[in-house]
Amino acid sequence: MVNPNRRIRTEGVEETLALGQDIGSSATPRSIVVINGDLGAGKTVLAHGIARGLGVATWRGSPTFAIVHEYRGRLPLFHLDAYRLEPGEVEELDLDRMLDAQGVVAVEWGDKVLPALAARSPSRLVRIGIVDEGDDLRSIEIAE
Ligand code: ADP
Ligand code: MG
Repeated sequence: MVNPNRRIRTEGVEETLALGQDIGSSATPRSIVVINGDLGAGKTVLAHGIARGLGVATWRGSPTFAIVHEYRGRLPLFHLDAYRLEPGEVEELDLDRMLDAQGVVAVEWGDKVLPALAARSPSRLVRIGIVDEGDDLRSIEIAE
């Protein structure tokens, strides 16, 4: 994924979508993108952008209740929301299947299950933190 270890500010949904699209279009097989930030920070918006960048046609929104949404794109995309996940439930997600499928795994609230994610030896593990700075301004930190 392009230019990790940077902090950028977006002003509005379209700019966050564009950043996600950037990440999605350069994503490699077997990679994990952890997206952290409070409720309403913009994690789902960023994941939507990643889906766009992977060429996903129809966006299904937040997987809060389904836990995981699976998409076909240039690479398979698995969009997870770990908000309601108990630590012991991580194994049931079958993360290995997602990576074996050469997928990109984007996980909202990913820090909740970070050790389980890192243990899968993804080809890349990118951590993104989004902070709401008021109105439509978001500070987004990307680290690898
Ligand atoms: P999360 O998944 O982190 O709970 P969402 O992505 O569902 O958050 O929602 C983010 C909310 O913030 C949306 O209502 C969106 O319209 C709003 N918003 C305002 N400015 C931005 C921005 N710069 N980037 C992303 N979302 C923004
Ligand atoms: Mg969300």
